[in-house]
Amino acid sequence: MKGFHFGPWPIRPNEIFFTSKLSIGLVNLKPIVPGHVLVVPRRIVLRFADLTSDEVSDMFLSAQAIGKVIEREYGGESLTITLQDGPKAGQTVPHVHVHVIPRKTGDWANNDDIYPEIDRKEKELAGELKAPKGVDNEERPPRTQEDMGREAEQLRKHFQQYEDIWN
Ligand code: AMP
Repeated sequence: MKGFHFGPWPIRPNEIFFTSKLSIGLVNLKPIVPGHVLVVPRRIVLRFADLTSDEVSDMFLSAQAIGKVIEREYGGESLTITLQDGPKAGQTVPHVHVHVIPRKTGDWANNDDIYPEIDRKEKELAGELKAPKGVDNEERPPRTQEDMGREAEQLRKHFQQYEDIWN
């Protein structure tokens, strides 16, 4: 398959802020907080167990490097780093990915309330992607390409890139 994909979704280079040999970092279409980003293996693989050891290593080293920048740039004090491995564990996009989410004091009243929030946003997104354009939704719609592009462009500056996919 040509270009980058996140499961079935084609991903434009301007949504990508990080490249390593076997992974990419992309900004989120529906972040639960600013700075909620995703680390994805380049190869489209459904489950964690399907990754090679090189891919596991590259993905988590990437998540570590990305987490450092995300925590600092979004004024975080901690990080939630999570992987929902399979649909029964809440995985909605059929392509392994690690969520990197900056955390700060008081962001959720109970620390683990972040997990139902991840679930809620994903259900919302699934509804929005199915709904015809213009349908009213009380919640915020997914972000625009421009908004995602701006965030990725800012973040890109903080990383040494494996590959220049933007020029
Ligand atoms: P999960 O439920 O663990 O599979 O997480 C899916 C994540 O991917 C959620 O945070 C979604 O907001 C995000 N997402 C879904 N589709 C896209 C897309 N096309 N581009 C960027 N992020 C996406």
